[in-house]
Amino acid sequence: MTSANVSPAEIARFDQLAARWWDPDGESRPLHDLNPVRADYVAARVNLRGAKVADVGCGGGLLSEALARAGAQVTGVDLGDKVIGIARLHLHESGLSVDYRKQSSAELAAAEPEAFDAVCCMELIEHVPDPAALVHDLAAMLKPGGRLFLSTLNRTPAAFGAAILGAEYVMRLLPRGTHHYAQFLKPSELARLLRNEDLELEDVSGLGYNPLNRKAWLSRRTAVNYILCARKPA
Ligand code: SAH
Repeated sequence: MTSANVSPAEIARFDQLAARWWDPDGESRPLHDLNPVRADYVAARVNLRGAKVADVGCGGGLLSEALARAGAQVTGVDLGDKVIGIARLHLHESGLSVDYRKQSSAELAAAEPEAFDAVCCMELIEHVPDPAALVHDLAAMLKPGGRLFLSTLNRTPAAFGAAILGAEYVMRLLPRGTHHYAQFLKPSELARLLRNEDLELEDVSGLGYNPLNRKAWLSRRTAVNYILCARKPA
């Protein structure tokens, strides 16, 4: 499967991490630590029991599994061969059921237009060449009245310090080159992309994280990592 809105170097970078994706002390450690907070954020805004949910750029499936455990019928898509393989393998361990596909956001939107009660896209938009096209696809797969959840890194000196200098260079939590500062999006910029697709922004919250004690929490400080919820009008 091919897609114009993809950087092959990014896919290769994440595929290299696939084998250790479910190791809570491996490179995906920050995602493990943030996962309960973002799963709760979604669960607080969507009745997950029986809901049809898409997880776009699902990686090894941390959020997909959390949402499936909460009763959602989850479709997870990613373009990384190895990460999708690991996501599928992990279902044997968890006993959960998730429909994982190697598909782009555009392919999922074309295959299942207006099909999902909720669409999640966590820590992906800062890795694609065309963020507006991604938001367009995410909006297209949402049912009218459905909700979109997006998380990403803000383009601020604080985010540069925490996500690049801190995580990649000082603490070496993430491989160097994982993030590119110029691709980080400010909440106002993301809000504009949502408005262009006629989505209504309902909330923007900060995702606080302390890598030393591994605690994560929602806050009003959006300077580093943030999560938002937007609704497609019914
Ligand atoms: N959403 C997951 C994983 C985030 S890591 C989580 O938060 O737990 C980013 C993921 O996006 C990787 O799995 C990578 O393979 C995937 N990715 C990068 N570019 C992509 C693209 N253009 N289309 C689909 N997936 C992509």
